[in-house]
Amino acid sequence: MTVATDLFDRQLRDLRVSVTDRCNFRCTYCMPKEVFGPGYEFLPRDQLLTFEEITSVVRHFVDRGVRKVRITGGEPLLRKGIEDLIAMIDQIDGVDDLTLTTNASLLTRKATGLADAGLDRVTVSLDAMDDPTFQEMNDVGFPVSTVLEAIEVAAAAGLGPIKVNAVIKRGVNEHSVVDMARHFRGSGHIVRFIEYMDVGNSNGWRLDDVVSADEMLDAIHAVFPLEPIPPNYPGEVANRFRFLDGGGEVGVIASVTKPFCGSCTRARVSAEGSVYTCLFAASGTSLRDVIRSGGDLGATIDEVWAKRDDRYSEIRSSNTARLAVPVEMSYIGG
Ligand code: SAM
Repeated sequence: MTVATDLFDRQLRDLRVSVTDRCNFRCTYCMPKEVFGPGYEFLPRDQLLTFEEITSVVRHFVDRGVRKVRITGGEPLLRKGIEDLIAMIDQIDGVDDLTLTTNASLLTRKATGLADAGLDRVTVSLDAMDDPTFQEMNDVGFPVSTVLEAIEVAAAAGLGPIKVNAVIKRGVNEHSVVDMARHFRGSGHIVRFIEYMDVGNSNGWRLDDVVSADEMLDAIHAVFPLEPIPPNYPGEVANRFRFLDGGGEVGVIASVTKPFCGSCTRARVSAEGSVYTCLFAASGTSLRDVIRSGGDLGATIDEVWAKRDDRYSEIRSSNTARLAVPVEMSYIGG
C-alpha cells in the first residue's frame, strides 16, 4: 500500500460513498421541495453502482491510503440491503473506521443489523430539539422524538459514541445551538454544529444566513462554559470543545468562516460512481464507466488524486463570488 498524495501534498485518507441520491426528507437547506418535488427524476437503478462495484471501488481506495469510509447519500438507509454492503466493506483489510450518516428515520429498526454487519458508528443529523423548528426544516413533518429514540437504540446496539450533526441557519434554528448543547451534555453523544454551506444550486444560499462557529461557541459558552481540546487525529474537520464541568464535548465545523482545505484528505464517490475531490467540485470522474468498460480503476484513482488541486472553500473565503456550479449535497453525499 502506498499513500497517494495530491498537488498540495495532501494524503488520501477518507472516503465518502453515496449509495443513493434519494431521501425521504426534504430539508430546506439541502433538498428543497420546490426543486426535489414529485416530478424530480432520481437516478434509475441501473445507473447506481452495485454493491460489488462499490466494494471494488473502496478496495482500490484503501490500497491508496484510505482508512476511514463513510456511507452516505441521499438517505443511505433507503438503499435496499444496505447491511449486505456494510458486511462486504467490513471484510476489506485496512478499513479502520466504517461509519454511516443518516437522518435516523429508519435507524431504530436497522441499528442492530447494521452493527452485526460490521458498522462501527453512526452520525445522526438533527437540527433542532423542538418539533416546530425541526419539522419546518425537514419539511416532511418528521418528529424529533423518533430521532432521539433512534439515537438511543443505535448507542445500545454499539454504534456509539453517536455524533449528532446540526446545521445552523440564521433566523431558522439559531436557538437550537444552546437547546442541543443542553440536551446532549452528559449523554455521551457528541453534537457537532455545522456552518450552513453553499453546496449545490437548490438552497438559495446567502452569506447572511450563516451563523459562524464562533457565534455558536459564544452562545454555548455563555450558558455552559467551554474550553478547546486537541483534535482526535490530524485533519479532523470538527474543532472540539469540552464542557468545563465535565459534561462531555461539542464540536463545530467552520467550513465557511475557517475553511480547512489545507488538511483535506477526503474523496467522495457519488451514487452513480463518479469521484469528486471536493464537496464544491462542479464535475467528477466516472469510475462506473471505467469499471463497466473493463478499464483500470486503480490507475484512474491515482490520476484523479495526483492532479487534485481543489481548495474551493479557501478561495471562496477571499473571494465571495462563486467559482463554479457545485454539485448537490444530496447527490455527492454530505
Ligand atoms: N440523509 C443523511 C443525513 O440526513 O444525514 C445523509 C446525507 S446528508 C446530505 C449529510 C449531511 O449533510 C447532513 O448532516 C446534512 O445536514 C448536511 N448538509 C446538507 N446540506 C448542507 C448545507 N447546505 N450546509 C451544511 N450541511 C449540510
